[in-house]
Amino acid sequence: MTAATRIEIDEAVSALAAGRLVAFPTETVYGLGADSTSDEAVARVYEAKGRPVFNPLIAHLPDLAAAERLVVFTDAARRLARAFWPGPLTLVLPRTADCPVSLLASAGLETLAVRVPDHPLALSLLRAVGRPLVAPSANPSGQLSPTTAQHVRDALGNKVAVVLDGGPCRVGVESTVVDLSGERPVLLRPGGVPAESIDAILGPLAMPGEGPIRSPGQLESHYAPAAAVRLNAAEARPGEALLAFGPTSSPALNLSPAGDVVEAAANLFSYLRRLDRPGITAISVMPIPEHGLGRAINDRLRRAAAPRPGSAS
Ligand code: AMP
Ligand code: MG
Repeated sequence: MTAATRIEIDEAVSALAAGRLVAFPTETVYGLGADSTSDEAVARVYEAKGRPVFNPLIAHLPDLAAAERLVVFTDAARRLARAFWPGPLTLVLPRTADCPVSLLASAGLETLAVRVPDHPLALSLLRAVGRPLVAPSANPSGQLSPTTAQHVRDALGNKVAVVLDGGPCRVGVESTVVDLSGERPVLLRPGGVPAESIDAILGPLAMPGEGPIRSPGQLESHYAPAAAVRLNAAEARPGEALLAFGPTSSPALNLSPAGDVVEAAANLFSYLRRLDRPGITAISVMPIPEHGLGRAINDRLRRAAAPRPGSAS
């Protein structure tokens, strides 16, 4: 590594530790990196991309040992990791009980996607920063994925503290995503590792739609807490737990007393979990403004409030 590169990595590490965003190259595309253990930093990633929904993000790690601290590996998962890491393969596995990664990165799910990227600059950064980084493609939502540092500077230059330049990406398409959290492995997204190569190790993979539905967004009520959810509440009715937003005299748990949608997004999933206790009739949520991350928050809350599959109504 050159001295110049080392200085850039040091800058990137300081920025990440301060909760800022850093773009870095991987073998697939450039990632918009943030400290995955900080709810606020993860919320900023969604804000910078301008996505109207919270898609779960991939935690990037320097090696298998680091990944084993975040998620519970099965034998099959370990076989795939040994065969394809570092490389363009993402594994979805159950979060460990003390997984330090923000629930917002899991979009409220019990699972987390993990990957070890095959790029020297990405690996140097991950080792130097010493904590997992989320890193979705570094482009505004709906635009093309960036495969050069210049693409990132053009599209998101004002939102990132540092852009590490590793030249053009070698693979140029996203990672293959395999969900190993259920009974059978499921291919959630085709990508840089051909499905045939995975079949060669595990046998034929199920496609999404075969077997139980697990992919986010496929079920309206996917992100539902156990308790019912009531939207646009002015106050809690008897038996309900109130989730407040904005300045209010209520002593209830408040997503953002200042009315900041980025702060509210950072708190959303952990606060829903805190209120989701047996015995309450519903979690009632005060109105969230429909701008910026408020749209993604409302999308998730509407799913949580949607009629449940298997419920009587
Ligand atoms: P990107 O970060 O843009 O490469 O996209 C991440 C991909 O991984 C998306 O297709 C997500 O839906 C998928 N993904 C990430 N985490 C999970 C998870 N916990 N369960 C299912 N799919 C996931
Ligand atoms: Mg993308």
